[in-house]
Amino acid sequence: MKFCFLGTGAADYQPAWYTGLEERLDRDVRRASSAILEKNLLLDCGPHVLDCLRIAGYDPAAITDVLITHFHSDHFNAGSLETLAKLSADRHGRQLRFWVREDAVPKDIPGIEVHRMKIGQTYELEDGTRVTGLLANHQQEVWPQHLLVEKEHKKIFYGMDGGWFLTDTYNYLRDQKLDLMILDCTVGDYLGDYRLAVHNSIPMIRLMIPSLKTVGIIDEHTRLWISHLARTLHASFDETEEICLKDGIHVAYDGCVLEL
Ligand SMILES: [Zn+2]
Ligand SMILES: [Zn+2]
Repeated sequence: MKFCFLGTGAADYQPAWYTGLEERLDRDVRRASSAILEKNLLLDCGPHVLDCLRIAGYDPAAITDVLITHFHSDHFNAGSLETLAKLSADRHGRQLRFWVREDAVPKDIPGIEVHRMKIGQTYELEDGTRVTGLLANHQQEVWPQHLLVEKEHKKIFYGMDGGWFLTDTYNYLRDQKLDLMILDCTVGDYLGDYRLAVHNSIPMIRLMIPSLKTVGIIDEHTRLWISHLARTLHASFDETEEICLKDGIHVAYDGCVLEL
């Protein structure tokens, strides 16, 4: 099973056209965060997703389901979603399924089938993938949820965006022994940043790892990755990777593919 980080940046992403990187992905010029599982399940649909899919070699018309973590503009772009819906309808005559938190009020987009997810309830997609939304500690006006995705007996946690864990989410994840845990790490390796209650930093993640192990959210087989790195709050990819690997933390980059 293939998991690909399409974009790994935060809201301060640098436009690709500005950097001359229209035709390639880069480890330091990060596009808005999104990811794809296999060929059809898209996690977030921001302003760069069509470019990222094209450059990474994915067929956008093959996407059947889009899961949204929240409605900040780096994670949700109505134009991108509308294009994906149109491709799905033109090529396959089917509606794109769009999964959002139960109380979210998305813009009216033609050609999509909206599925509202009750927090803590598991839904099965047509291809057998099971998805659960869990409350995230992030600005609540954009209906944030972390995503637990289960497929072929593998469990993936995609925690964009959010700082620390809310109690119910933490309890839900206990003993899950995730195969892959992907955490928001907007902030780099320093103390004193003001975003404490909406995003994680590298020191916060360091602090969390032993506790995550204690309660069985992760164990020795779990692969721990960070994504959603703010361009202006982190060192270069190479420096960040060197710092993080000492603690067993892997640093995502645009186009990074994981085999599960
Ligand atoms: Zn974000
Ligand atoms: Zn956000």
